[in-house]
Amino acid sequence: MRTKANIELDASRRTFATGLLVDLITALKRSRTGDLIAITSDEPTIAPDIEAWCRFTGNTLIETNVDPGRVRWIIRCGAAKMNLDVERPVGSRLWLYSNFDCNLSCDYCCVRSSPSASRRELGLARVQRIACETPALGVSEIFVTGGEPFLLADIGEVLTACAASAPTTVLTNGMLFTGRQLAALLSLPRDRVTIQISLDSPTSQRHDARRGQGTWARAWAGVERARAEGFRVRLAATVSTDAEAKDFRDFLDSERIAEEDRVIRHIALRGFASQGVALARPDLVPEVTITAEGVYWHPVGAEDADFLVRREIFPLADSFAAVRRAFDYEREHSRRLATIFNCA
Ligand code: SF4
Repeated sequence: MRTKANIELDASRRTFATGLLVDLITALKRSRTGDLIAITSDEPTIAPDIEAWCRFTGNTLIETNVDPGRVRWIIRCGAAKMNLDVERPVGSRLWLYSNFDCNLSCDYCCVRSSPSASRRELGLARVQRIACETPALGVSEIFVTGGEPFLLADIGEVLTACAASAPTTVLTNGMLFTGRQLAALLSLPRDRVTIQISLDSPTSQRHDARRGQGTWARAWAGVERARAEGFRVRLAATVSTDAEAKDFRDFLDSERIAEEDRVIRHIALRGFASQGVALARPDLVPEVTITAEGVYWHPVGAEDADFLVRREIFPLADSFAAVRRAFDYEREHSRRLATIFNCA
C-alpha cells in the first residue's frame, strides 16, 4: 500500500543543486510536526543527499520505494511521538514472529497479516535453537507474536521451549482458545508464560470496526478463559488518538488492571495502516526481532526492508552483535551530524 503524504513533491530530474532544496524548504515551511512529505524523482542518485539532509535538519527519512526508473522517499517532519525514556538494554527483549498468517485482517496490521497471508513460519526447530542460545546473550524476556501464534499446531511446544529459556509473553487476539489450541494453552507453565490479548476499546464499537464484527466479544471471552485457567493476562490496545487512549485507560482502571499488565500504543504507519505514527530506525531503541526471513530492528517493522538488519539468524550472538553495531552506528551518526550542525 502506498503511504499517503501531506505534500507530494515531483522532483523529476532536479537535484539539491538544481532546485530540489528550495522545494523541500518551502514544503517544510508549510508543514507541521509529524506531517509527511513525499519526494518522487527520476534521479536515484540523490538518495545520499536526501538521507544527509534529513539527518542534518532533524527530520526523518521513513520510507524509500524503488520502482523501475522512479524512486519515492517519504520524510517525516520532526520527531515521532514515542515513549523513548524507557531504560531497556539492547538485547534484553527478544521478539519471535512465529508466523505471519492470522484469522483476522485488522486494517492497521503493521505486518499485513490476514487469513490469506502466507504462513512464513519460524518453525519449532529454529525456536528451540534460539531458546538454547539466548541464555548466554542477556535476554530477560521473550515475546512470541505473529500473525496469530495460536494458528500453529505446535504452538504449545514453541512457547514451552521459549519459556524454558526466559519469561515469555505470547501476543494473541485471544479468539482461538478452543479444542487443540485450548489444549496447547493449558499445557503452558503459568509462572513463565503471560498471555497478551489485543483489545482496542472498552466496548465493541471501535474494536470491531477495525478488527471485524464480533471480535471484541470473542477477545473478551479469551481474556476471561485465560484468567480462569490461572494465567497472567495483559491487555494491549492499539489506538488512533490520545482521547481513545484515555478512554481505554479509564476502562482498565475500572477493571482494576495493574499498570504492568497494560499496553497502549498508537497505530504505526506500517503494513496495512494508511494513517498513524511514522517511524524510522532512529526513532526506536532496537528490540531484536527474528522472523523466518531474518533479523529485524524492531517488531513494528518486521517485514520492512528498512528495518532488516541481516538475513542470517544463526549464530544468534552474531545477530545480536549486528543489531548493537547498527544501533551504535545510528547514535554515532546522529552525534557527528549534531556536532556539525552546532558548529555551522
Ligand atoms: S493486528 Fe494482530 S490480530 Fe490483527 S491481523 Fe495483525 S496479527 Fe492479526
